[in-house]
Amino acid sequence: MHNLEKWLIPPRCVLTGEVGGETDLAETLIQALKQPMQVCPVCCEPSLQSDLCGACLTNPPAFSRTQVGFYFAEPLDRLIYDFKYHGKASYARLFADLMVDRLELDQVEALVAIPTHPLRRRIRGYNQAELLAEALSKLLQRPVIKQAVIRITNTPSQTHLTARQRKNNLKNAFQVNPERLEGMSHIALVDDVITTGATMQQVAKLIHQKTAIKTCQAWSVAKTE
Ligand SMILES: [Zn+2]
Repeated sequence: MHNLEKWLIPPRCVLTGEVGGETDLAETLIQALKQPMQVCPVCCEPSLQSDLCGACLTNPPAFSRTQVGFYFAEPLDRLIYDFKYHGKASYARLFADLMVDRLELDQVEALVAIPTHPLRRRIRGYNQAELLAEALSKLLQRPVIKQAVIRITNTPSQTHLTARQRKNNLKNAFQVNPERLEGMSHIALVDDVITTGATMQQVAKLIHQKTAIKTCQAWSVAKTE
């Protein structure tokens, strides 16, 4: 966590109220969070010996590497839900704190948040992925590039769709502004949760089509198992 911010707003566990820890979640709860182990470095799906998986080998995704903090399970799922739908914007710093210890920065020069539709952003008051990217930016000393990717159609919630429906739903959902990414080679796309990876795939694909970016990583706090 950023030192000044930590001094201004001392960490306090959002679930137990415990103070004195390093982050806004009690250490015992952090230790219990389930982390992806033995996963494919590109897609983060289970893979023996953490080798490149068969799917990525035969059909490489547009993103070069997936880095995920934890699996989407109790109590993180609840926290993310509140972050997204119940105005808990302050959880961004907690999620960034949790992620940063597990992240390898590699050559990443800048962060790009997966955008939410302007309408949903207006209702919610913020884009949760952007808040997360900004919190990570402070810790990693890498800028967040805004407006690099925008959402142009109001795609319905992805939650209850099959993988194929998600993919169709995402076609034409994003637009890339190449000038925002000019002169850069390596970026990380940031979202709160990765489910099938379809959103990351779509955005990374579009970025590669429209810009000279060499690698796009996919970063999230959590991934569904
Ligand atoms: Zn893979």
